Amino acid sequence: MKEVVKVKERAVSERVNNFQEVVLGYNEEDALKEASRCIQCKNPTCIDGCPVGIDIKKFIYQIAQKDYSGAYFTIREKNNFPSICGRVCPAEYQCRKACVFTKKNEPFASEKAINIHFLERFVGDYGVKHNLEAPVNKDSRFSDFRIAVVGSGPAGLACAGELARSGIKVVVFEALHKTGGVLRYGIPPFRLPRNILDFEIDYLKKLGVEFQLNFIAGRAKSLKELFQEGFSAVFLGLGAGVPSFLNISGENLCNVYSANEFLTRVNLMKAYKFPEFHTPVNIGKSIIVIGGGNTAMDAARVALRLQKMNRIAPNTSIFYRRTEIEMPARRLEIHHAKEEGVKFKLLVQPTAFSGDDQGCVKNLECLNCQLGEPDSSGRRRPVAIVGSQFQSDCDVAVIAVGLGANKVLTSVTPELVVDKWGDLVVNKETMETSLKGVYAGGDIVGGEGTVIEAMGMAKKASLAMVKYLSGLPG
Ligand code: FAD
Ligand code: SF4
Repeated sequence: MKEVVKVKERAVSERVNNFQEVVLGYNEEDALKEASRCIQCKNPTCIDGCPVGIDIKKFIYQIAQKDYSGAYFTIREKNNFPSICGRVCPAEYQCRKACVFTKKNEPFASEKAINIHFLERFVGDYGVKHNLEAPVNKDSRFSDFRIAVVGSGPAGLACAGELARSGIKVVVFEALHKTGGVLRYGIPPFRLPRNILDFEIDYLKKLGVEFQLNFIAGRAKSLKELFQEGFSAVFLGLGAGVPSFLNISGENLCNVYSANEFLTRVNLMKAYKFPEFHTPVNIGKSIIVIGGGNTAMDAARVALRLQKMNRIAPNTSIFYRRTEIEMPARRLEIHHAKEEGVKFKLLVQPTAFSGDDQGCVKNLECLNCQLGEPDSSGRRRPVAIVGSQFQSDCDVAVIAVGLGANKVLTSVTPELVVDKWGDLVVNKETMETSLKGVYAGGDIVGGEGTVIEAMGMAKKASLAMVKYLSGLPG
């Protein structure tokens, strides 16, 4: 079997001092070599592993034929932003895990599985470089219709793009002063460079999509008012922006951040350039990030960079209550975090923060854990060991233990049915909510998911919305 083509990465010693992209991607030669490893299976199992069903076999074949534009359009049939997904998709749980080169009992994709995500990124970047634009099928029947999209994360952006290509006038309403949702305020630029995101958003603007920033739907205007202003339908891509906390004592001390606040201060408000930019973030000597998902990895890698940039000896740790195998983060992020010097303290459960006389956090008390029976998530439950308390120095803590629905809009719109977590209940075929003409997708439906899942739901909703405007049954 041909050897796996390794992707090039920025050297650790260089990358920990800045926010430049870590994974440098495949060049043409690498992409051709990696594409040539795909055996073009009769039954391409990889496709079942892709949440939006990209014809992976076909686009890899097109790469091997050097038909990069063809490959781009094959991906674009199902995925609006290949350059983004090629960088952030958890391929080891998805397409690569389903590739024939992964054995059935392996928990993640095999090393030998085709590097589908790096090939997708190569093709997506080719599209960006050559300004390739997916076909626009503007239908004059729709030119008088306007649709409001609330939220400019991957769900909102994908929905806006699909609708605009059909000839519908789209206005995106975003609560923040910048577009992109988690892609801009959460995922750091060393994983997703902002020029890639800006390219996709600029393309939507060229299609005629209008963006209204600093607009909180539910506060600035209600859904009813949007309909009264002439919008024919609304898509809600509200995300899951409300952080969960540990609910332990001392959590309200200074320098205990939620990961959302910490990452937003740095990624969106450029806290690392304080005082040039006005939003500060405190950087301590002992930073503890609590959690095991992508958010925790991002927060820890950001924190470690900030220590280096502030000439503080790097001392950033991840505390997680299970073991590494149960961590929901992408394997690549875990690997990169370790390579960069983030320490991992596993099987620990925080029990209390304590502070100094200024009200700032100084210490974290934890219990050691062991794994018990599997819980509802299928992962083995962490069980605290009585009497195993220990203390750790901690002058900055970042809590990354989950995100939930923001209820600003749903709480003032009682007609919208939500589940016990506050997520919107939708018809899974059409993504229509309980309110006629109001559709939804992304993390506000079913809770925290992935970028590609959010875009997949948005695409489904946009198809149903076009039918709705045409007067056809969903
Ligand atoms: P969001 O991206 O959350 O966007 C929602 C937008 O709606 C926000 O901009 C918000 O300001 C706006 N909004 C909310 N309420 C209102 C309102 N009332 N009025 C106006 N605007 C409103 N997934 C991956 O696949 N790979 C990764 O590597 C990955 N890493 C992640 C790292 C972090 C730090 C986080 C937090 C998540 C990560 N995820 C990752 C998950 C992924 O980012 C989300 O699943 C995805 O962004 C969901 O998209 P969305 O459009 O539903 O919501
Ligand atoms: Fe290629 Fe793997 Fe898909 Fe087979 S399963 S077509 S080898 S990517």
